[in-house]
Amino acid sequence: MLKDEDRIFTNLYGMHERTLAGAKKRGHWDGTAGIIQKGRDWIVEEMKASGLRGRGGAGFPTGLKWSFMPKESDGRPSYLVVNADESEPGTCKDREIMRHDPHTLIEGCLIASFAMNAHAAYIYLRGEYIREREALQAAIDECYDAGLLGANAAGSGWDFDLYLHHGAGAYICGEETALLESLEGKKGMPRMKPPFPAGAGLYGCPTTVNNVESIAVAPTILRRGASWFSGFGRQNNAGTKLFAISGHVNNPCVVEEEMSITFRELIETHCGGIRGGWENLQAVIPGGSSVPVVRGELMPDAIMDFDYLRGELGSGLGTAAVIVMDRSVDIVKAIWRLAKFYKHESCGQCTPCREGTGWMMRVMERLVKGEAAIEEIDMLFEVTKQVEGHTICALGDAAAWPIQGLIRNFRGEIEDRIRRNGAAIAAE
Ligand code: SF4
Repeated sequence: MLKDEDRIFTNLYGMHERTLAGAKKRGHWDGTAGIIQKGRDWIVEEMKASGLRGRGGAGFPTGLKWSFMPKESDGRPSYLVVNADESEPGTCKDREIMRHDPHTLIEGCLIASFAMNAHAAYIYLRGEYIREREALQAAIDECYDAGLLGANAAGSGWDFDLYLHHGAGAYICGEETALLESLEGKKGMPRMKPPFPAGAGLYGCPTTVNNVESIAVAPTILRRGASWFSGFGRQNNAGTKLFAISGHVNNPCVVEEEMSITFRELIETHCGGIRGGWENLQAVIPGGSSVPVVRGELMPDAIMDFDYLRGELGSGLGTAAVIVMDRSVDIVKAIWRLAKFYKHESCGQCTPCREGTGWMMRVMERLVKGEAAIEEIDMLFEVTKQVEGHTICALGDAAAWPIQGLIRNFRGEIEDRIRRNGAAIAAE
């Protein structure tokens, strides 16, 4: 279990002051100018050495991403954009940072922007996050008043402005290029890549889009050292991580833990166990709604990190939003509900996603009632494969994977339902 002195987020539950004075008392904004004066290369190398992988779901190494930004400007400005859209069902970790520990994020924005040669950064906030916007804006205002933002930010010699932009609540705006379109005042529709944002992002300028948690952990990593951070978790899965556990546990919570903790330890230590005991565990979606569901019996000894969940269980860590389902859940209906969500959120720009999400949802609707032929299960799986990897953005994959996980792990349940329904009709 992670010790209290190793926690980066010291006010996750809002028990202490979230003001600048409170944040400083807890060790934030300590020696920020000194970190910046060590230079861009030092910061990027230290972030690489820490092993931090992006906390927004994809797990791409953060330091490496920063290194893609041009070292010298060709006349265009560079930007950091923080993705605070957090719209993936089950995911609710970044909101705790923004409403209770906002200074971790603001200090991170300054340091990361300096490392990427950006004098301005934007935080793109999910439309529904009203309280988070208020907390974050209040913290930004405090920083301007204290000279931590603006000209010569924090006495570092670097001029830096930070802007908060409130979205309108579309899931697709969490996709980085749709987010940039929306930030530019256009419809939130994903762009084709390449060009990647590091070459042409916001307003056609070099841009890095990072998740809130990825940016908020950076100052503490740089203060305490890359080796401190990389000492947690297994190789290639380093660090501490916010886990957001929801569903049928006795005490759902968001908690910072060491990466590679086992699922059993995570649930027993922080969530008071599974509702009705471990025997009652039916299924887990370990990384937010877009990753494949896993059978409950495979989960107790599962290692909660990127490589194990993908390599051993065919699922993923995603945002570490852990959705726990006990035996009271109609698992087919639960996945149908996700299919409905993705159909609703498709921006409609590319055919496999626009048509495929609706098609998949309608077949799922019939599977819930058992009103389908057994052969349709394979047809549905085949359609998910036609959608996966054939779309402009990852929403197509996100819609396909939960259904693939259901078919791979719960095929028996789907078939039983179809047979039961067939028998009931025959008996009439
Ligand atoms: Fe839009 Fe879906 Fe295509 Fe993404 S995959 S661009 S959401 S239609």
